[in-house]
Amino acid sequence: MSPSPALPGHPHIAQRDGALHVEALPLAALAREHGTPLFVYSKQWMLDALAAYQRGFEGRDALICYAMKANSSLGVLRVFAEAGCGFDIVSGGELARVLAAGADPAKVIFSGVGKTRAEMRQALAAGIACFNVESEAELEVLNAVALEEAGRRARISIRINPNVDPKTHPYISTGLKGNKFGVAHDRALATYRHAASLPGLEVVGIDCHIGSQITEASPYLDALERVLDLVVLIEEAGIPLHHLDFGGGLGIDYNHDTPPAADALWKQLLARLDARGFGQRKLVVEPGRSLVGNAGVCVTEVLYTKPGEDKNFCIVDAAMNDLPRPAMYQAFHRIVPLAARDAAGATTYDVVGPVCESGDWIGRDRELNVAQGDLLAVLSAGAYCMSMASNYNTRGRAAEVLVAGNRATLIRRRESVEDQLRNELT
Ligand SMILES: *Cc1c(COP(=O)(O)O)cnc(C)c1O
Repeated sequence: MSPSPALPGHPHIAQRDGALHVEALPLAALAREHGTPLFVYSKQWMLDALAAYQRGFEGRDALICYAMKANSSLGVLRVFAEAGCGFDIVSGGELARVLAAGADPAKVIFSGVGKTRAEMRQALAAGIACFNVESEAELEVLNAVALEEAGRRARISIRINPNVDPKTHPYISTGLKGNKFGVAHDRALATYRHAASLPGLEVVGIDCHIGSQITEASPYLDALERVLDLVVLIEEAGIPLHHLDFGGGLGIDYNHDTPPAADALWKQLLARLDARGFGQRKLVVEPGRSLVGNAGVCVTEVLYTKPGEDKNFCIVDAAMNDLPRPAMYQAFHRIVPLAARDAAGATTYDVVGPVCESGDWIGRDRELNVAQGDLLAVLSAGAYCMSMASNYNTRGRAAEVLVAGNRATLIRRRESVEDQLRNELT
């Protein structure tokens, strides 16, 4: 058998005939047609990632709600909407977006610590499945808004902070005591009792979300036990919980990371749920990164190479406003040349963008054999890149292409300076 040309951990990205492909299409041709920086996504990777969750929940009553903040482009949302997914939203803007992509509002849940009254009204009018409430103060406001809205009760779940360490970057760890998210474990029962007494609310579930880029099963198992302990207490208090929502957070392979596969993880979690008698309860999950992260690459052109006193710089046309994760979290993204050159001529570079900030780097100390005009692919760029993109330095946001087999669809035009100036007044 000949070795697979696919990059390790990236089954739909492969070097063929000396050129890097996403599915059946060479990235260089897409970059020529659409310019750089350019995000390119593999539809098959997304569907395969979703299928792992679907396999994991086979025979169960489960709703997979894609956490759309990971990548909220309409073309990406449409893939998941067509596959029957629900969605986890965190703003009224995301609600409008996901409805525009054809989502069923009855499969939409609304998370976030700072929902406004206007957003609550918008979500009630749309008829979403559930508000994941994050504080006692939010309960009061949601109750008031629901009562004002012609007799419509708001279905709610309360986000519990299970106080487990997800063993990830502190900025993406959300289930520890010091975080702003959720209601403390100790306050949970009292908060549920109060929620059940409010006439504008209908208690339907419980939820947690302990962090992101989690690469081990143990934090999930710990959180599960702690949430189930609370479920027992809450139901003993006469408040039935229709669904249990375990959030998202499963990691992907950025740099030899080895997170459990979604189906393997859920096999373990379901065994615990079964053992404790909750295996037939309706389950909800909110995966974001693990459904899109490794579906995407960002193609960027080498503008200059610049030997420095201590370091050599490879200056590319993608920047922190396209790929914010290195600047925000010191995150690692693999960087691969589109056309492989002889590794013998490699130099150690810091790959940096044109933005006027020292934090504008994409990769540090990378061995690359590159020259001006070469194209590079920044891998694992499907999640928390385009959705976090900004216009800093008045840079237009990149274009996006969705690849399915040998078909490429432009799902977002490159943002022009006219687009950026449209809302400004002089
Ligand atoms: C961001 C977020 C998710 C998704 O997290 P991933 O790490 O991308 O899977 C799920 N639920 C909530 C409440 C979130 O804030």
